[in-house]
Amino acid sequence: MKPETIAAQALHAASSANPAHADAPQAWRRSIDAETGAVVPPIHLSTTYARDASYALIDDRDYLRDKGPTHLHVEHVLAALDGGVSAMTFASGMTAITTALRGALAPGAHVVAPRTGYYALRAWLAHMAARWQIAYDLVDTTRVDTVRAALRPTTRVVWLETPANPTWEVSDIAAIADVAHAGGARLYVDSTVATPVHSRPLALGADLVVHSATKYLAGHSDVLAGAMITRADDAAWAELRLARREEGAVLGSVEAWLLLRGMRTLYARVERQSATAAQLAQRLAAVPGVSVIYPGLASHPQHAVAARQMHGGFGGMLSILTGGGAARALAVIGKLRVWVTATSLGGVESLVEHRASVEGPDTPTPPDLLRLSVGLEHADDLFDDLAGALA
Ligand code: PLP
Repeated sequence: MKPETIAAQALHAASSANPAHADAPQAWRRSIDAETGAVVPPIHLSTTYARDASYALIDDRDYLRDKGPTHLHVEHVLAALDGGVSAMTFASGMTAITTALRGALAPGAHVVAPRTGYYALRAWLAHMAARWQIAYDLVDTTRVDTVRAALRPTTRVVWLETPANPTWEVSDIAAIADVAHAGGARLYVDSTVATPVHSRPLALGADLVVHSATKYLAGHSDVLAGAMITRADDAAWAELRLARREEGAVLGSVEAWLLLRGMRTLYARVERQSATAAQLAQRLAAVPGVSVIYPGLASHPQHAVAARQMHGGFGGMLSILTGGGAARALAVIGKLRVWVTATSLGGVESLVEHRASVEGPDTPTPPDLLRLSVGLEHADDLFDDLAGALA
């Protein structure tokens, strides 16, 4: 089955936690409930599961923490969309990120991470590094040689975010996978912005993909969720599973169901959002005094890499540099009537944010940068609003 079909029908490989009940991965099951005929997958809210008279578990699950039926359903779909063998959901994107890193690190270990990208990762590394004797380097991951030079014998993880929020730098996943593996490290990729619609990092050599499922996967700005997908069911994955079970950072059942519901329209939403973003990038680039950062533009420094490793589009995120420093950027935001001024991204409503204000004084983000998350409105309304505010 193609990913579009798996997403639209929420097809899943198995409906049970019991391996004896599992289908072969190719034998996709539809979500239609055998008992009632319900077309929409049910939501299971129970936190506990019954035993029979012989004290055996009825379906190999005892407690919600890592085996909820709704969770397993959404995890099967996630694994299929990213081309992995297994997936886990978490209470947030940051929980998925920190669980992935803590699972791979121990005192004395070293991490290579991007100098740009979602700022909360850098904040967490700074905090963790001091407490747990973790060494890390923030480097320009768009340069493969720079990543190679940063590796140490103690490097356990190379972390990429591509395209990287909010300057949309694109890193070469396949080339860096080779470099990381040659150096004895694992490659983890935050693919939140690309989504499985445009990028499949596991097929390019990444060991693990994480998503803030809060964004495009859930897609409606009403769920906080994280996801993690693995290329191999190996010892590292077992360690991460154990961490989630022991630490209990699981997604709520209602959120798991909402995520599954949101993912049914993932391809339609993201394809449209990317097409509108590409159109806006072209039109905004023609506005005097404005620079546009979008991986789909030929002027983007890593456009060639993006064109090689992304498929079907370049995503729904772009940024503009208004010129005139933070004062002008904030003045432009103040004039917008269609774009909603708010943080986050990947929802159906278009959002605009002045990232430098949010990230604080040490941010590498230019002061005149406005980050645009393109929703499902008409491109003309979005463009006219911005063009009017810029004028
Ligand atoms: N990764 C990226 C690229 C993000 O943009 C965000 C949030 O903005 C996160 C991770 C963190 O996700 P969450 O807010 O779901 O914890």
